[in-house]
Amino acid sequence: MSHYNLPMLLRFICLVLLSLSVVANSNTFEDFLSNIRQLATEQGVSKATIDKAFFQLTPNLDILSSDRSQAEFSQNFWSYLGKRVSQYRLDNGYDTLKQNRSLLNKTYKQYGVPAHVLVSFLGLESNYGNNTGSHSLVRSLATLAFDPRRSDFFTSELIALLKLIDDGKVPLEATGSWAGAMGAVQFMPSNVIAYGVDADNDGKIDLWNDQADILASAANFLERLGWNRGEKWGREVTLTESFNYENVGLNTQKQLDEWQALGVRRANGSSLPKSRMGASLILPMGYKGPAFLVYQNFRSILGWNHSTLYALAIGHLADRLSGGGALLATPIDEPLLKRDDVVAIQQTLSLLGYDAGEADGIAGPKTRAAAKNFQRDIGMIADGYVGYELFQRLQ
Ligand code: CA
Repeated sequence: MSHYNLPMLLRFICLVLLSLSVVANSNTFEDFLSNIRQLATEQGVSKATIDKAFFQLTPNLDILSSDRSQAEFSQNFWSYLGKRVSQYRLDNGYDTLKQNRSLLNKTYKQYGVPAHVLVSFLGLESNYGNNTGSHSLVRSLATLAFDPRRSDFFTSELIALLKLIDDGKVPLEATGSWAGAMGAVQFMPSNVIAYGVDADNDGKIDLWNDQADILASAANFLERLGWNRGEKWGREVTLTESFNYENVGLNTQKQLDEWQALGVRRANGSSLPKSRMGASLILPMGYKGPAFLVYQNFRSILGWNHSTLYALAIGHLADRLSGGGALLATPIDEPLLKRDDVVAIQQTLSLLGYDAGEADGIAGPKTRAAAKNFQRDIGMIADGYVGYELFQRLQ
């Protein structure tokens, strides 16, 4: 009788599939480019544009190492916010607001996204257009599309870029991030096609130098992501002693007056505004850390970038740029978890019967749900926060 078990068999099958995909992708860069040439031609890109774009093109191996390197430490709310909402970033933000006042007002009238929110996106994406990246977009995307890891995604981005170049909307020599994002708002080529706006009607979507194109494109994207004119993104709050942590998380939505009844107050302790507006409560550092009620516009920010920390940083920077003060919660000096620590948390939770999903070192929704169930079962406050306290308990 054979002794291989199911996991072993699955691993074997995975190895076979992996080597098949390596074989399928082991053709030369020239072979790969001729496949792309065919795909792009089928989608209407001219031969002249492809010839120019692929002339003496070689893969950039530095980009592959950037794509594979992972930060050693996972970020927590305060470390993330401290880096992104610095005094330097605030000062540059006030200047950007001042310099573009009339254009920002015009963009607000058309799309409903306020000036301080748009400027906050410019700040976080590219330090207000000052750091848009110096990698050749064609070369970056061709390299990442050639690499089997995420070939499909980057192949369609490369073809989108070739279309933009062919249409004269983006220059052939355009540069951006190593991952192929361009301009002050760091749009991928497919985003430029779907949401880019040529606001000054010069035939180009210039996300590097033309403030009208930049602001209209960002505002158009946010409007399409469901941004509600006249609403805030969210607000900092505090919780009364009796608060039931089962209600934490983006999956639970309640009206503001329900949150008031459950013990949620403004950050300064006073009552919430009387409103039936829908909101979710999030605790980015668990019950000991700051608390936020977030509205529909927060979900629009998550549509731009699905990281909760990113969305909170956008919201807070926007508040500061419109005259708001620092957060009232006291920063917690908690040791940062290494990615390996998060992997260990995920593996231990799964071993204990709480399915934490893939042990990838990133505490996503599945890991947080598993953490919450574990915390509840052992009598901790079940906030689902994957932090130092949980790490210690699981050890
Ligand atoms: Ca333009």
